[in-house]
Amino acid sequence: MRVFFTNLGCKLNQAEVDRLARRFVSAGHSLAPALEQAELHVINSCTVTHLAARDSRKIARRGRRLNGGLRTVLTGCYATDSPDEAAELAGVDLLVTNDSKDRLLELVHETFPDARPAAEVPAAGVPVHYVPISFGRARALVKVEDGCNMRCSFCIIPSTRGRQRSRPVDDVLAEVRELTAAGHREVVVTGVQISEYDDDGRRLYDLVAAILGETDVPRLRLTSIAPWKFDRRLLSLWSDPRLCRHVHMSLQSGSSATLKRMRRPYTADRYEALAELLRAEVNGLALTTDVIVGFPRETAGEFADSLAFVERLAFARPHVFTYSSRLGTDAATLPEQVPFAEKKARVTEMLAVARASDESFRRRWLGESLEVVWEDRKGGRWSGLSDNYVRVFADSGRDLSATTGRARLETLVEGGVHARCLEESLSDPAAA
Ligand code: SF4
Repeated sequence: MRVFFTNLGCKLNQAEVDRLARRFVSAGHSLAPALEQAELHVINSCTVTHLAARDSRKIARRGRRLNGGLRTVLTGCYATDSPDEAAELAGVDLLVTNDSKDRLLELVHETFPDARPAAEVPAAGVPVHYVPISFGRARALVKVEDGCNMRCSFCIIPSTRGRQRSRPVDDVLAEVRELTAAGHREVVVTGVQISEYDDDGRRLYDLVAAILGETDVPRLRLTSIAPWKFDRRLLSLWSDPRLCRHVHMSLQSGSSATLKRMRRPYTADRYEALAELLRAEVNGLALTTDVIVGFPRETAGEFADSLAFVERLAFARPHVFTYSSRLGTDAATLPEQVPFAEKKARVTEMLAVARASDESFRRRWLGESLEVVWEDRKGGRWSGLSDNYVRVFADSGRDLSATTGRARLETLVEGGVHARCLEESLSDPAAA
C-alpha cells in the first residue's frame, strides 16, 4: 500500500511517526509523496489544546474529501482521549489508541487483509529499513520513554499516554547505531518526561553516557528536562562536544503562586537557581522553555511576576501558550477562568518579551563560528541548526543536506541568523 503519514503535536509524536514509517516500509509498503496518491492515511493526533484536537478532526475529514478511496487510521492523543467521537468522524476506518500504537502495523493488516504485502512483517523491536521522514537524513528523533506519573492540573497527557515507562537502554543504543549508520548527523532523545527515564535503575544520566560512550553518534540533543528532577551528574557529560548545548526546561509560569495551582513541584526561585547552575556549567547554553499565559485565577500581579521572570531569565527561545481548558483536567473545573480578551492581551505582552529574548540570544553569536547540521534548502538558501539551537541560513552551491560544517554567523534574519559557510570544514558521511 502507498501510505501517507500526518503528524500533529510534539516531538514524541513525530518520533513515533518516523518509527512507524520505517516499520511500514520494511513490511513492504511504500510512502506516498502526497495524500492524493495514498491508499492509507495514518494520522498521529494531538489533544494538548482544543485547537490541536480540532485540527486532528479536520485532517481526518479532509483526507477522505481529497481522496475518496483513502483508508484512514487515526491514532495518538486525541484518538485516545475521545475514542467515541473520533471513531464517529467521517473518514476514520480504524482507531488505534496510544496503548496499541506499537501494534498499529499489525492492526492495519488484520483490519485490511487485502492490504497486507507479500513481505514478512519484522518483529516490533527490531531496527528496520531506514526511511528519511521528519528531518530528512540530518536529524533523527528517538523515543526513549513514554507516559507520565505527574499530575499537573492543566495537562491531559497522563490520561492519554498512561503511566511512565522506559525503553531498555540496549534497545535505544541499537536504534541510535542504526540511525548513525544510515547517515544521520544528530539524534534527538525524546519522550514525555525523559528526566524520569528508568531502565531497571539505569537513569537518564546512564542512558546519555551510554549513547555517547558506546555509539558513534555525531551529535546528541536532549529534549525536555524536568526542573524538579535534574541529575547533576548530567553536567559532566557536556565535556563531550557531541552533546548539544541545549536544554529545554518547561517553566509554565514565572509566578510561584500560579505554579502551585498548576501543581508544578518547584518554585520560580528554584527554577532560576537551576537555570543559573546550567548556564555556569555549560558555556554557550541555549535554555529554551514553555510558558502558559492565562491560567485560571492568574491575577494581574501573578502575570506581571511571570512576565518579569521570563524577561530576566533571557531564554533562547520561550514558547508561549494561551491556557486551553482540557476536559478531564482539574484546572478545567477551577473557578475564575481568565476572560478571553484578558488572556489575549497577556499573550501579546509575553510574546513580545519572548521575541526580544530569542533575538538577543541569536545576536550574541554574530561574528562567531558555530558547527551547523545542515538540513535542507528552502527558498534557495540552506537551513540548519547549531548545537545551541540557533537556526542558521546560508548560501552555497554545494549540496549541504545532512552535512555538518562550521559557519560564521553574520546577520540577524527572521527566525534565525544568516551565515557564511566555512567550506573547508564541511563533512559528509555519504561522501566518505
Ligand atoms: S509533567 Fe506535567 S505537563 Fe508534563 S506531561 Fe506530565 S503531567 Fe503533563
